[in-house]
Amino acid sequence: MILLIRKQKLFILFACSFILSGIILLTRDKVITTIPAVSSDKPLYGKKIVIDPGHGGIDKGSSYEDILEKDLNLKVGLELKKILIEQGAKVIMTRQSDIALDDQNRTYTNRHKRDLQARVDIINHNQPDLFISLHVNYFGRKFRIRGPIVFYQDHKTENKVLADKLQTRLNSIEYEGVEMLNNPSRKGDYYILNNTKYPGVLVEMGFINKEIDRWLLTHHQFQKLLAQQIYRGILDYL
Ligand SMILES: [Zn+2]
Repeated sequence: MILLIRKQKLFILFACSFILSGIILLTRDKVITTIPAVSSDKPLYGKKIVIDPGHGGIDKGSSYEDILEKDLNLKVGLELKKILIEQGAKVIMTRQSDIALDDQNRTYTNRHKRDLQARVDIINHNQPDLFISLHVNYFGRKFRIRGPIVFYQDHKTENKVLADKLQTRLNSIEYEGVEMLNNPSRKGDYYILNNTKYPGVLVEMGFINKEIDRWLLTHHQFQKLLAQQIYRGILDYL
């Protein structure tokens, strides 16, 4: 009798583990089949790119009335993400919503510096082929300058190459009769550029205090166009 129970128990145990492993195999199969296959003929196949929409959360960046830099950066960043993924790249975003990153770093007492270091950490940790940091400029003085300017750090020659490729593409934008100026790319002393180990640039997409730029930057179609041209510049570079 005892032997019979043991046998029964053993059988039940065996049957259970058999069913369980079947379930695991089935669900594993399901997981595998849901991963979208990235086609190797896509132009950015095998490339890893970090997109860094500047500011966020408590840090609104530059602003003009209720137009905030942090929102514009994120909108273009998400458009760029969409394009790069479509073209086969692996994309890492430093943020995908309206958040600051200062709670991800404890190195500094200064909140702003913790936020910037968290972005640097994401870039250095992921070892991307390149990164793009997105910002909107503000100029207090009445210079005639407007439109996108790409900033780079010249500790690596490829930074300037990337900056020039992006700048050329951005300068060629024409939107509803508005042409860009022929802005040159510039050397920039930015924390994110100075402290990252991988090629990258900081794109100031326009001046929030300039009426034309503000009009452009708040247009969804122009935001998409910016993302499209940044993608083309990336292709030119790669
Ligand atoms: Zn900014």
